[in-house]
Amino acid sequence: MTQSFNCPSCGGTLEYAGGTEHTINCSYCGSMIAVPEELWRDAENAKTINKWTRYIFLFFAITVGVPVCVGVLGTILGILATLLGIGGTIFAAFLPFIIRIFSK
Ligand SMILES: [Zn+2]
Repeated sequence: MTQSFNCPSCGGTLEYAGGTEHTINCSYCGSMIAVPEELWRDAENAKTINKWTRYIFLFFAITVGVPVCVGVLGTILGILATLLGIGGTIFAAFLPFIIRIFSK
């Protein structure tokens, strides 16, 4: 989030894009300007909230997402195994007729 403030030396508009730097070089007069604390404090708070959002997302991905994926995969494998079983049963039922046809 880019925030702007005025250079205390020349009054030029300075853009502060956040980050770890608490000073900025004025592009109008070349002075090294200390960024007002409320600007970098906001940027740092936003970064901390972002970090926690990432941790919470990771927590739910591991505790909910992975078990759900494993469960869905197990269900699909179960359905496939059931279909294979049904196919095998039908094949076994017709096997004597098939053998009789080919043994003639
Ligand atoms: Zn300046």
